[in-house]
Amino acid sequence: MRIGVLTSGGDAQGMNPALRAVVRRAIQRGASCSAIREGYAGLVSGEITPIGWLDVSYILHKGGTDIGTARCAEFRTLEGRRRAAENLMRAGINRLAVIGGDGSLTGADTLRREWSRHVQDLLSSGRITPEQATPSLYIVGMTGSIDNDMWGTSSTIGSDSALNRIVDAVDTLTSTASSHQRSFVVEVMGRRCGFLAAAAAVATGADFLLIPEAPVPDWRAELRQAVLAGRQQGRRKSIVLLAEGAISVTGEPITAAMVKAALEADPGWDTRVTVLGHVQRGGAPSAQDRVLSTRLGVAAVDALMAMTDGAEPLLMTTAGASVSPRPLMHCVAQTHRTGAAIAACRFDEALADRGPEMTELLDIYRRSAPTASGKPRRTIVVANLGAPAPGMNAALQTVVRLAASEGVGVLAAQEGLRGLAEGKLRRLSWHDVDGLPSQGATILGTNRWLPEADDVRLEAALAEADGLILIGGFACLTAAQRLRETLPVVIVPATISNNVPATDRSIGSDTACNVICEAVDRLKQSAVGSRDRVFMVEVMGRRCGYLAWTAGIGSGAEVVYTHEQGIFLSDLIADIAALQESFTRGKSVGIVLVADGASDAYDTHTLARIYGEESGGRFDTRVCVLGHLQQGGRPSPGDRVLASRLARVAVARVLDGESGLVGEVDGAVVVTALAGVTADALNRRPLARRVDGPGVSGLAPTEA
Ligand code: ADP
Repeated sequence: MRIGVLTSGGDAQGMNPALRAVVRRAIQRGASCSAIREGYAGLVSGEITPIGWLDVSYILHKGGTDIGTARCAEFRTLEGRRRAAENLMRAGINRLAVIGGDGSLTGADTLRREWSRHVQDLLSSGRITPEQATPSLYIVGMTGSIDNDMWGTSSTIGSDSALNRIVDAVDTLTSTASSHQRSFVVEVMGRRCGFLAAAAAVATGADFLLIPEAPVPDWRAELRQAVLAGRQQGRRKSIVLLAEGAISVTGEPITAAMVKAALEADPGWDTRVTVLGHVQRGGAPSAQDRVLSTRLGVAAVDALMAMTDGAEPLLMTTAGASVSPRPLMHCVAQTHRTGAAIAACRFDEALADRGPEMTELLDIYRRSAPTASGKPRRTIVVANLGAPAPGMNAALQTVVRLAASEGVGVLAAQEGLRGLAEGKLRRLSWHDVDGLPSQGATILGTNRWLPEADDVRLEAALAEADGLILIGGFACLTAAQRLRETLPVVIVPATISNNVPATDRSIGSDTACNVICEAVDRLKQSAVGSRDRVFMVEVMGRRCGYLAWTAGIGSGAEVVYTHEQGIFLSDLIADIAALQESFTRGKSVGIVLVADGASDAYDTHTLARIYGEESGGRFDTRVCVLGHLQQGGRPSPGDRVLASRLARVAVARVLDGESGLVGEVDGAVVVTALAGVTADALNRRPLARRVDGPGVSGLAPTEA
């Protein structure tokens, strides 16, 4: 069985990891793979070449697509597609993995629908032989689109990386804007979809947002009002995020120049425009994009290989971390329907089509608008617990601002629950939390101190509070159990190791995965030109292997050691032998990720010595302990957005007078009652966590 793979339409970071996954999964499953160069242009011209395991080595970290992409007018014609069919049949391909936008996916479906007609015509004109003729073409698509504009999937390939580029740019602009008290209009991509702009607005705390799906009535007046309100609260700069397809309520396009003119209508408002353009498509794929694309590629090959006569094309879609197939043309049709709804100014319909996350983002953005602090009707207390995690500050900002929008005041405990017990509480206003999402760690301070069950100081400190929001790690479960009789307690999981149960993700783990992937990229580069080398990279997580597993997929690690799996001598010997074999076949650098609590018997240095001793001189081994690097740094947009989405629900829950743990499951924000949260208390991790099968994790070793 031979699978063809192509990338088409606008490029997106993550296309290379998807390509790598398709090629390697196909080989792993006993199929072979051919690359079609330059999208449909290569299909029409016959630029189709076999592609093997080593051809996709060292591309996981690269933006763009190594097999090229293009827009091809000829493929839109019947004769162009006939030549494509001819080339596919000559190359022995009847299964196609297409990575592209809705246009590319539509094109693939058109070719499939016409297939039998092409077969007949090509046979009767003698362009193919009866042996070359294949009765069916099978298609599986993956959406490569930085805009995140496909119906039925929570993320498209490239959108998280693009969001990283945007948020980096806005964070950077913020310091210069503040210095000069300027306003910046930042135009981001999204001709028909406002996801990037909306997510960036939440991740950076922007003053104003203009997107296609949710136009603002009388936007000029609203814009000036929003900017003025921010300035009155003490803001020294204003950021307006503008999707390139933004429109007014009556459907007229809104350009960056129009926004600038509207702002400068008031004398003295110095406004600059920054159009981010193709910067958003560039650069390395984020950890999330690498993992997502790998999962999609593996699932796409499995689906393609299972297709039999009459199988309809499928699109591989995601809901958070889970991947599932959906009918491709249904997703494309729904996406077009959303575009039509926007064009016809049926905005409620368009917004509903975008799914719940978009609605959550808009709700956070709108309710985070400047609010003067009056006398609060109610008060909630917020405290951190456990190690610092990037994104804790974003959660705090959303708690304070959304509470303020309800007339609720927030008292923040300094230095965790110990500070709370000591009465170290500070009232936070809208302005106090301004600019927080871009800041790493936590302005509140945090520690692991837990109250004794009979500690009355906490009860006294919380006497006037209507609820407590705990932002932190596993220890929050113990604290919440001890305090929930006193007042409603809601946990917002924030720990890089992602070991809190009842959630697929916790705040901070995305940033940490990015740190690990970037570190491994650098380690691999450092080994260029040196002799064959294995890097043994120790990552955090203790007995929870999430970081090691996820970063292992994102960084292309050959071996991952976690406590869940355990480390046995027999495994070590087999892993070393497999690496020796890989080096013999052409690999020059190997990566082994070790969770820092993977084994009581073998620490990372011991493992490295065993590798060194047993490698037989085939490679040398170096240790790199990433340590606290993983806890610091600017939070990724993924963590900021997750933090705000979880905090939004936490505020609602605590004000309803209910306790619980807010998490994200299959992409949706859910609350689990504390009584329903179960955990492996001994190992401080969930009882079970879905991990990717060997298909996803086993793509790194060099195979024949
Ligand atoms: P994207 O895939 O990113 O949406 P385009 O819409 O430009 O980008 O499509 C990429 C290519 O896919 C086009 O250049 C063309 O070759 C092919 N294509 C797009 N739409 C169709 C269609 N309706 N029929 C046939 N081919 C199409």
